Amino acid sequence: MSIFGTRPEIIRLSRIFPLLDKHFEHIMVNTNQNYTKELSSIFFSELELRKPDYDLKIRTAKYGDEIADVISKSEQVILKENPDLLLILGDTNSGLSAIPAAHHGIQIAHLEAGMRAYDIRMPEEKNRVLIDHLSTVLLPYTHYSRENLMRENIHPSKIYVVGNPIIEVIDHFTPKIEQSKILEQMKLKPNDFFLVTAHRSENVDNLEQLKIIFLSLEKIHKKFKKRIIYPMHPRTFSKLKKQSIPNGVEIILPLGFFDFSKLEKNALCLITDSGTVPEETLYFKKPCVTIRESTERPETIEAGSNILAGLNVDNIFNSVKQITSINPEWSWDSSLGDGKTASKVINILRSKLERRKI
Ligand code: UDP
Repeated sequence: MSIFGTRPEIIRLSRIFPLLDKHFEHIMVNTNQNYTKELSSIFFSELELRKPDYDLKIRTAKYGDEIADVISKSEQVILKENPDLLLILGDTNSGLSAIPAAHHGIQIAHLEAGMRAYDIRMPEEKNRVLIDHLSTVLLPYTHYSRENLMRENIHPSKIYVVGNPIIEVIDHFTPKIEQSKILEQMKLKPNDFFLVTAHRSENVDNLEQLKIIFLSLEKIHKKFKKRIIYPMHPRTFSKLKKQSIPNGVEIILPLGFFDFSKLEKNALCLITDSGTVPEETLYFKKPCVTIRESTERPETIEAGSNILAGLNVDNIFNSVKQITSINPEWSWDSSLGDGKTASKVINILRSKLERRKI
């Protein structure tokens, strides 16, 4: 059984789902944590995914209701289907389905295990720690993450580094990304615009923080005189009421994966609080400025493609100036992901399931 519910989970699992269907009796459970078309159904059609077996339709307006629904509704499907193993990716509230699974003695495999920002303000950090410690098979992307797990006393025999699955998603869909007409539709020229995403709760739930993001974008627009395209997540949009939008900033609905990736490949620079975007820009050889105080992906900083600017107008502005003034010399190291994560995951899961039967 796989349980997931958000945009990044659907994207990252998209090359793994078909293999799970091929090699196992796979029950696919969407919690619907992200329920809008722009954050969910568009990815099922673009990434050619089948309809999930269950849509849990969890309530999402309040934290407590959301967590309660993830736990009680996932428990119902777990008890009904009695899976041999539950696969979870990442750190979202949907991943808290690990709690009822562990309670009922179901094996849990956690992909994207071991990421740590060491920033406990983040809801994702709390979820990561919980899910890792409830899991029986830990599947980090990198050795960095593996070391984090071992520092928390997770036994190395449970850990398998499998690489980052985003690479094979991009590689598989490169022809579709190239076919995207978004540049023409938006009348954008390569390297002549900034692309922004920001929706982490610690950045946008507080109006003062959101203000810093807009002041930074205003300063960047004044200096560079380039358009700033901001496909906006509904969480940020819901906080926008009292916020005036600076000149040059163009807020649009979230884009599909092909259009967004095409913009990433052609932007002058990405400004983001996303986890996946800095990985994608490293792969696309594009500069990225992360507008957060911490990151669970230090590999992108070490590679040189991403500056961690914090949430401060001058730091964000200076980081953008800095990273756009140098030639991108970084490159994706295959130790971060070699495009074969899906088949590794399948083989590891098979060995775990076979062993249990013996
Ligand atoms: N993305 C997208 N459309 C957008 C913005 C992002 O398809 O308008 C994709 C992006 O390419 C990446 C993923 O969504 O693969 C990132 O999701 P998000 O930032 O929500 O999650 P995080 O990576 O921070 O967990």
